[in-house]
Amino acid sequence: MAREWSDSSHDGVALMTDAGGKHELQRLIDEMYDQFRDLNDGQVATYIPELAKANPKDFGICIVTEDGRIFEVGDCDRPFTMQSVSKPFTFGMALEELGHQEVYKYVGVEPSGDAFNSITLQDNTNRPFNPMINTGAITVSALLHARHGDKALDFMLSRLSAAAGRQLTIDEDVYQSENRTGHRNRAIAHLLLNFGVVHDEAEAALDLYFRQCAILVTCRDLAMMGATLANMGRNPVTGEPVFEIGCVKDMLSIMFTCGMYDYSGQWAYRVGVPAKSGVSGGVMAVVNRQLGIATYSPPLDARGNSARGIEVCSGLAARLGLHVFDCLNAGSSYLKVVL
Ligand code: GLU
Repeated sequence: MAREWSDSSHDGVALMTDAGGKHELQRLIDEMYDQFRDLNDGQVATYIPELAKANPKDFGICIVTEDGRIFEVGDCDRPFTMQSVSKPFTFGMALEELGHQEVYKYVGVEPSGDAFNSITLQDNTNRPFNPMINTGAITVSALLHARHGDKALDFMLSRLSAAAGRQLTIDEDVYQSENRTGHRNRAIAHLLLNFGVVHDEAEAALDLYFRQCAILVTCRDLAMMGATLANMGRNPVTGEPVFEIGCVKDMLSIMFTCGMYDYSGQWAYRVGVPAKSGVSGGVMAVVNRQLGIATYSPPLDARGNSARGIEVCSGLAARLGLHVFDCLNAGSSYLKVVL
């Protein structure tokens, strides 16, 4: 097939338009979709009863560039709840609202090596290890609740909606389902209360956490939110500034080290970009200063990451040279401008 310019022998960043006019990114995600649509690995999460209703065949891939171009294939309009993909965003909001020093008094930035819902705190400080696991995320929700009270949910929703570029809403059924059955998270909230990590409205903070997890997004929304982070905190389509650049750096750092549950180390090694996944099957990855990438596919592997999502992101990273230390990746460096 004729190309605008020739490909190199290296798996890499040559972006081209083929003779049919299809952009290389579109061609690539179409290919990934065909390659992995029949992958039947993984199980849909059932521990929140309402999530068990997800269709395991749902599958979408979307890429949004830092200048707002959208490439997508599959079920990119299908709504699903954010779950843990909300965590880096609420962490960023807390940093902006309270400042770094105050937030770090309550939550650390160390990978824990434990499951996302483990009931453990750091020795000595009794702080949660990091804001990507439930102890840390519930703490962050409590900080936002202490600051905004009854308005905290509206505050979160408006910031997340600005990142997505459209008004987001909550899935009441998923919220109720988790609220009814989230005994482990309830235990975590009360443990945090015991150690004085959260204020005495621990139940209200937990309720906020359950609602934040039940915010509905599509695969396209997640890619747009990722592109907002890639674009230094500004939504690339609406142009709205959403997150301060200094906080974006912290959000991406914590996603890089802790974003993919107990697979975070291997993810950093194999894929090499900051990312966050959630138990409903979403994965959001960020290529700094270049792309937001999202996949949606509900069946999860043993570590809780979307099985198709891992394969698609690994494939895209290899084919496009996205790994932050790939020799082809100069996208996040100013040196290319300065030199
Ligand atoms: N609401 C879920 C929980 O706390 C989120 C878990 C996740 O997506 O990792 O159990």
